[in-house]
Amino acid sequence: MGRVRFKCKNCGEYHDIDKNTPVEFENWAYSKVEWSDFKDSVPPLSEEHWSRSETLPRLGETRIIKVGVTFDESTGSEFYADYRTENAFFNGHETEEEFENSAIVKCRFDEVIISDEYSAWIKVTVTQVLRYDKIAELFPPHYIYDAFEDYSGLGGEGTEDIGKKWRIITWSAQGDLGDTLYIFKDSGNVRHLVVRLNWCMAEEIIYFGNVVENIDRVK
Ligand SMILES: [Zn+2]
Repeated sequence: MGRVRFKCKNCGEYHDIDKNTPVEFENWAYSKVEWSDFKDSVPPLSEEHWSRSETLPRLGETRIIKVGVTFDESTGSEFYADYRTENAFFNGHETEEEFENSAIVKCRFDEVIISDEYSAWIKVTVTQVLRYDKIAELFPPHYIYDAFEDYSGLGGEGTEDIGKKWRIITWSAQGDLGDTLYIFKDSGNVRHLVVRLNWCMAEEIIYFGNVVENIDRVK
């Protein structure tokens, strides 16, 4: 099996994925990955009603995931994919615990179980797990001059604090494109932008790293 990618349900075409990472981030990850607890058999690709996994992926384990339009890889390749629990996947993060159970997961693409033009069930091996609340410790800081609230420039729509450690800032431009910023506050009260979810039309991609506001600008 060679290249695995999917048609956009909106226009029926293949879209190229921009795999470049903005300089302030470490790398990028696929966002709309659906993690299952299935071991062998999987439901049909058209089936939407199944329980997404509540179990954080562990190093070395084999997992079955469902991938769709924002995906373009060949078997044998390695890629990063977002993992979050079912509620956070469908409704966004609502508790600190959901952040502790979210991670950027490096996967090796082992095989395709079943695929059609729009999606596939695939088998992967987990080769790295970067929990959201550990990302800031794992990478050196990249400083930016603007406050996070001004960062995207698209026009802020919402800031929400989840517990003491997390802030989510949402932006969008007339519903066509937007960003969600996930900001972690460490024990020294320094805020780190660790995950940026960037979406436009049918596609979503995540950038991750350790972006820190320039200290001079922090009030
Ligand atoms: Zn399209």
